[in-house]
Amino acid sequence: KVRVRFAPSPTGPLHLGGVRTALYDYLFAKNQGGEFVLRIEDTDTARYVEGAEEYIEEALEWCGIIADESPKKGGKFAPYRQSERRDIYDRYTEQILKTDYAYIAFDTAEELDATRAEYEAKGDVFSYDNKTRNQLRNSLALSEEEVKKLLDEKTPYVVRFKMPVDRTLNLEDIIRGKFSVNTNTLDDKVLVKNDGMPTYHFANIIDDHEMEISHVIRGEEWLPSLGLHTLLYEAMGWEAPQFAHLSLILKPDVSTLINKENIDSITKSFSEEFVTKNSEFSFDESAELIKSFFSEVKSPRFKSMLGENEKDNALTAAVKQFLKKGLSGKLSKRDGDKFGFPVFPLNFTDYATGNVSKGYRESGYLPEAFINMVALLGWSPADDKEILSLEEMAKEFDLNKVHKAGARFSKEKAEWFNHQYIQQKSDEELLEILKSSDFNTTLSDEKLLKIISLMKERLTFVKDLTLDNEKGKFFFEAPVSYDEKAAKKAWNDQTSVILGELASDLENTEFIAENLKQAVHDFAEKKSLGMGKVMMPLRLSLVGELKGPDVPDIMELLGKEETISRINNAIN
Ligand code: GLU
Repeated sequence: KVRVRFAPSPTGPLHLGGVRTALYDYLFAKNQGGEFVLRIEDTDTARYVEGAEEYIEEALEWCGIIADESPKKGGKFAPYRQSERRDIYDRYTEQILKTDYAYIAFDTAEELDATRAEYEAKGDVFSYDNKTRNQLRNSLALSEEEVKKLLDEKTPYVVRFKMPVDRTLNLEDIIRGKFSVNTNTLDDKVLVKNDGMPTYHFANIIDDHEMEISHVIRGEEWLPSLGLHTLLYEAMGWEAPQFAHLSLILKPDVSTLINKENIDSITKSFSEEFVTKNSEFSFDESAELIKSFFSEVKSPRFKSMLGENEKDNALTAAVKQFLKKGLSGKLSKRDGDKFGFPVFPLNFTDYATGNVSKGYRESGYLPEAFINMVALLGWSPADDKEILSLEEMAKEFDLNKVHKAGARFSKEKAEWFNHQYIQQKSDEELLEILKSSDFNTTLSDEKLLKIISLMKERLTFVKDLTLDNEKGKFFFEAPVSYDEKAAKKAWNDQTSVILGELASDLENTEFIAENLKQAVHDFAEKKSLGMGKVMMPLRLSLVGELKGPDVPDIMELLGKEETISRINNAIN
């Protein structure tokens, strides 16, 4: 029976990578007719973040990734929060201590720090392993009496894994294939801390065993732990699940994100970072140079600027490195705020700083679009189809088709998905979304539906309708200014007189698009003017730009009074 779990630690909000792991866990389980489990790994109390568990649950719910078993829902292997499973871990701690795979160690943090410092002074790196363990304070190095004495004195201790010497482990990963690791490269990890709580490694394999997990699908950062985990299963005498490690999500191409709108904020955050690291530069100087560099990003000259240059100063070198890194590095939680795209599914407030990072939900993304975008970060269905519902994805999901290479996040692609899903929604559904936002209008639902149907194909987000003139804001607000370039093109000495006469003709026209079209046509003919000579300034008066749907449609929706008032505003 296929059973898959998503096992986040409540150490912060879920980010894009976490959502993708949860999604692949879910898709694989559903594809195989199996079960999907949510388990909260909260044994690390020092890193516990208040509210993180609730955030994770709410985010998964918004995405439609619904667990069959979870802390909230319960299930046959409850409890699903590790902090509530202490008695189970205690049992297995006892069991592993009876084997040759674990031992107890009394070294204090101070002692270990001192040892580490000694090694560093010699230019070595300290590691608690089979080469050093016999010089340290543990049950392998001390005599039986000494150990007994320490235990009687209630000396705090940890349980460590006894890494076997010079064994080659042949490991297998569904995505990466076969590889081997020599145990001499691994250290003696702590399995149980001195408060009796297991660490991630131990609790994780115990729970995967206890909860009958068949497949572990998780982030690539856990691949180096696979050797230890495999040995832990061996030590416990359990069969290990199958593993699949997902590759990283990479930063977007930074150069596509540096544009007129956010060049200032990117320059600012980059200058701050740079100046802190290079005290000899002043903020203003750096900002100016950085900005001039960034403004070149889209120019053809830019590529050659990135090339190896003779005499780069520290600043240009840093900018170049920054831009290059944007083409390769791992997507970090901070990138979102820096470049203006969400990395979290929901808004997230940092308790320490009070900073709010924007979530996909609050930015106006539809959950279906978000989840579709996330799914294709590292997987493509057989026929390269791009628009898939959660059910379709589950039907087609295949771990063997998950990419080995990192997947590059793209803000444009995310927006493209949202646009696509808006097209699939009915006008009524979009109206519901509009009305559930904090936008207020006196327009009737009937009119709103017409506006939506006219503007839908231009929308990236439903809220654009009320915020962006090109996408429909002019339906709700008369233009307060006129685009200069457009005015030059549309307006001349006679325009005011012409539009004035048109306005009085319109007083007697029924405001239905078809009639209005005819009326403008007749007017142009009467005046021996080309249609453009009338339509262009008319559009400018109504919209403020030379953009938007057909002018008669706009007029019908604005109604007689508003149309004439906008014309009068423009000609006076
Ligand atoms: N608690 C770990 C994390 O937060 C889970 C890793 C795993 O899936 O084994 O990433």
